[in-house]
Amino acid sequence: MKVAVVGGGLAGLAVALGCEEDGHDVTLFEASSELGGRMKTLQEANHPLDVGFHVLHTAYSTVKRWIDLDALQSKPMDACTMTIAPSSGRRRLLGDALRNPRYLLSTLKSVGISDGLRFLRWRMSTSARDLERSMDAPTATIAEGLGQRNFRASTQRVLQPLFAGITLDPTLSERIGFADFTWGAMSHGKMVMPRDGIAAVPNQLAARLRSTEVRLNTSVEGVTASSVVVNGHPETFDRVVLAVPQHVAGRMLPDSLGEHQPVERLTTTVVFVAPTAPFPQARLLLNEEWGEEGQHVLHVHLPTNLHPHPDGHHWVVATLVGEDAENVDVESVSAELTNWFGPSVSQWSHLTTTTVRHALPHINPAHHARALPNLEVNGVLLAGDHRTHPSVQGTLRSAERVLEHLSIPLPRRA
Ligand SMILES: Cc1cc2nc3c(=O)[nH]c(=O)nc-3n(C[C@H](O)[C@H](O)[C@H](O)COP(=O)(O)OP(=O)(O)OC[C@H]3O[C@@H](n4cnc5c(N)ncnc54)[C@H](O)[C@@H]3O)c2cc1C
Repeated sequence: MKVAVVGGGLAGLAVALGCEEDGHDVTLFEASSELGGRMKTLQEANHPLDVGFHVLHTAYSTVKRWIDLDALQSKPMDACTMTIAPSSGRRRLLGDALRNPRYLLSTLKSVGISDGLRFLRWRMSTSARDLERSMDAPTATIAEGLGQRNFRASTQRVLQPLFAGITLDPTLSERIGFADFTWGAMSHGKMVMPRDGIAAVPNQLAARLRSTEVRLNTSVEGVTASSVVVNGHPETFDRVVLAVPQHVAGRMLPDSLGEHQPVERLTTTVVFVAPTAPFPQARLLLNEEWGEEGQHVLHVHLPTNLHPHPDGHHWVVATLVGEDAENVDVESVSAELTNWFGPSVSQWSHLTTTTVRHALPHINPAHHARALPNLEVNGVLLAGDHRTHPSVQGTLRSAERVLEHLSIPLPRRA
């Protein structure tokens, strides 16, 4: 069978690999100059820097099926989150005490016994075997759902930025079932960062392609069930798989969107080089006052605390989302962080600023199933996170669904 795969992100790569290993003749079209899509890592000052805060969850069932974790030389983030209230300088620590008992006292001190028990119940309600089952029933949005769960206001001030960061959506309009899925992933596995950055994940699949013809810098203009149009010329295939982001799929195949209209999910990271690390751990520092007047930075992390820079540089990465992520002014971010870390911020230098537009798809919160029902639209097969849910698990599941539909076995892990 002659298969065209349009889009060389994680979904397209997985579909191409599955088809190739089953003996099909695959052409992979990628608009940009490299494969990997949104799992992107830059080389800055001789060290990998992810575009946007991105971790790999080892609890994802698809990661176990597709990715050789050992080869990534990953290191885990701490199983906890720190928070800061910049106006007072107060910090709190919330950790998974079942994973590491030394987090118990600090977490109870941070959230109190009643919310500590709520966290425990939340964890127990997730299933390590089937993380996605939380999306199989109608749920409220994250904003509504967090309210219904009766957390104290001070705990909400931690959960809101946490989920705004995970969904890259300040309005928290994703399904709370998706929040439950991520909570389960955090509870039942580790959050790791590959030594060479998050792009090492799609790169691992790309490196396994042998016979697939990869056409980089080739923007596809249109697709039908049996053709792909490039530079105005249609090319014929037996099957066409569209594995582009939601807003592009909507342009090429408007019927694919249905009730799930793309909404801009924007994130910007501002990266500074600091002579000393403002904190030594590999964890997120969340802003409890995010959203209040003058509080734009959502969280800060230091990737060099996990994978040290060879020259001993410390990278401080500040993340902003939504409107705050538009036209970010480095000076104001630096001034804001001075309230967090004190005058030493004046010794930091700006390394780079990255912005991701259309960072994640928008799934109508009224939708309640782990995958969208229409896998095939006008004869074109659809893959990508917008067919399932906005995560690596959702992305790889979308690719698996396409392969299952074509009766193609999943490739054996390398
Ligand atoms: C900043 C950020 C942080 C994230 N953090 C996490 C996380 O911590 N954990 C997690 O599980 N998930 C996370 N995600 C989500 C995860 O990265 C995505 O769900 C996943 O990468 C989507 O892969 P995809 O193949 O569906 O799409 P993409 O990666 O977008 O791939 C689509 C490809 O199609 C190409 N393309 C577009 N138009 C055309 C065209 N006309 N012709 C040819 N090619 C085209 C694009 O260039 C791209 O390479 C994050 C995403 C972002 C952006």
